[in-house]
Amino acid sequence: MRLGVLGLVAVGAIVGGCGSQPAVQTVSKADAAMKVQQAKQAKAAAAAKVKANELGQVPVLMYHRIVKNPGSDDDRTPEKFRADLERLVRDGYVPITAAEYVTGKIGIPAGKHPVVLTFDDSSPSQLALDDLGVPRADTAVAILQDVAAKNPGFRPVATFYVTRDMFGKSLKEEQAQTLLWLKDNGFDIGNHTRDHVNLGTRSQKEVAEQIAAIRQQVHALASQDPVTLALPYGSQPRKKEWALRGKGSEGAYNHSGVFLAGYTPAPAPYTRTFDPLGIPRIKAMDKKGDCSQFCSTAWLDWLKNNPDMRFTSDGDAETVAFPKFKAPFLRKNFTGRALPY
Ligand SMILES: [Zn+2]
Repeated sequence: MRLGVLGLVAVGAIVGGCGSQPAVQTVSKADAAMKVQQAKQAKAAAAAKVKANELGQVPVLMYHRIVKNPGSDDDRTPEKFRADLERLVRDGYVPITAAEYVTGKIGIPAGKHPVVLTFDDSSPSQLALDDLGVPRADTAVAILQDVAAKNPGFRPVATFYVTRDMFGKSLKEEQAQTLLWLKDNGFDIGNHTRDHVNLGTRSQKEVAEQIAAIRQQVHALASQDPVTLALPYGSQPRKKEWALRGKGSEGAYNHSGVFLAGYTPAPAPYTRTFDPLGIPRIKAMDKKGDCSQFCSTAWLDWLKNNPDMRFTSDGDAETVAFPKFKAPFLRKNFTGRALPY
């Protein structure tokens, strides 16, 4: 029997046998409010137990090519990439896409930490499919799927920032096969401009043309629009907003977030420090040279040693759980989902 939660609800007289009395139950507003309060307290206690901190920082890792013979520090070997993923598993991370991150849809188990894996420039070393649609060995996608299969709960998802290169495919049909494969397998397709130009030196019209052209191409091939954009070279246009939304001759674009190229973990999407116009990423690289402090190995060590700074999930995608102390940093539009403890 369903009980109303508003006002006084009489729950029908039970018609019994001869001589039985009708029983009437009432649920008052106060009772209902108390139940909601108790449920919230139980959620807050569970969040406290796993030290949930959904206003903490999120590493957004930036990859380029995954190749056996790296040409530069931007490349990663298949072995190193696999080791990176295995470290993320050990450290309790679960991948989410850039689109999920910027829109605050972070659905991972309690006590786990989100990580965003991003791949720039749509290189065939990231994704190449055989004629039956199976990823070729040692591509980024094949390695990610393999590590996920061996570690249940580690989601095989990532975001691919594409240019007109489209994973080395020149035929429209092959480009469509590749983008549709990504879409069908839960991967996220982002915008990286048509010609990989430095937007910092371009006019508003040129910026809009570069971005709108890829939006249109992804839309035509895979029937979806990129939710986010990664700036080539991390270079912002003269007005940062031009990268977020605008209109070119091939239509309009409206992103929920724009990613830079360096050099720190990113704020949670629920904090006031989150800026959709310039979200930092971390280059995937060992501790050496410039990377001794500012690339992935160094930052993952730092987050491990500073667990109070890291985003930890309460396991409920609907709530934003955090220690009360952090309340002033909550973004206004998330107050309805707040679960302070
Ligand atoms: Zn690039």
